[in-house]
Amino acid sequence: MRIVRRVSRSEGSAGRPTEQRTTTFTGTVYADSLLDGTDGAAATSVFFAPGGRTFWHSHERGQVLHVLEGAGLVATEGDAPQPIGPGDIVWAAPGEVHWHGGGPESMVIHLAVSLGRTSWLGPVSDADYGGSQ
Ligand code: MN
Repeated sequence: MRIVRRVSRSEGSAGRPTEQRTTTFTGTVYADSLLDGTDGAAATSVFFAPGGRTFWHSHERGQVLHVLEGAGLVATEGDAPQPIGPGDIVWAAPGEVHWHGGGPESMVIHLAVSLGRTSWLGPVSDADYGGSQ
């Protein structure tokens, strides 16, 4: 068992800006690593500004999202984006290609628990983000 106390991670990783990470995110996104890959499980608190979103990607053994604040969007390949809000839980199955992010005019904060490796694909186009297929 490993316990990561909040006080021990308040230095260093909190609020690291990811705007420059152009291979994983579009727009303004801040990711706070809470648990970094222990036994293949990573927990990350992520803030997406309006319009901010991940690239298309999948998780080797799946991912749980727990929406904490705001209003955002999540979409799986081939389907229109779905709204997500506080208290919602999203399960992305192993290998399921998807993206998640803020709404067009709203921020969102979610906890992401990712299992296994994340495979990053290309950016989510404005058309896909806006829901037109
Ligand atoms: Mn994901």
